[in-house]
Amino acid sequence: MNRQILLIEDNEQNRYLATFLLQARDWQVTHAPDGPTGVQLAEQIQPALILLDIQLPGMDGYAVAQALRRNPDLAAVPIVAVTSYAMPGDRERCLESGCNGYLEKPIDPVTFATDVEAFVPHSDGGERK
Ligand code: MN
Repeated sequence: MNRQILLIEDNEQNRYLATFLLQARDWQVTHAPDGPTGVQLAEQIQPALILLDIQLPGMDGYAVAQALRRNPDLAAVPIVAVTSYAMPGDRERCLESGCNGYLEKPIDPVTFATDVEAFVPHSDGGERK
């Protein structure tokens, strides 16, 4: 099974926590600090899932999601926005941009990995058998 997750996040603390929680569930996390790097890495590694911060410098998460969705090779890869934006319209905008779902910051260390895994097709929920 593909155990690669691409994390597109410019904040080092958020990146550290998300990576720690996912690695504890046997995911291999690749990090991109900005949108263009994220799009390039997604094409290279074909991750099982992409976690996408919306507030990114230069190219925001909406534009990143749109760019990812223009690549047919990545059409089946779930994109999950992770953002502190709390307005209802922002959630709709995430979905319109091509994201499959939305998790709110600050991330909850207890539920984060399970919430992420729910977006991975055929995920075993992180249980190692
Ligand atoms: Mn950010």
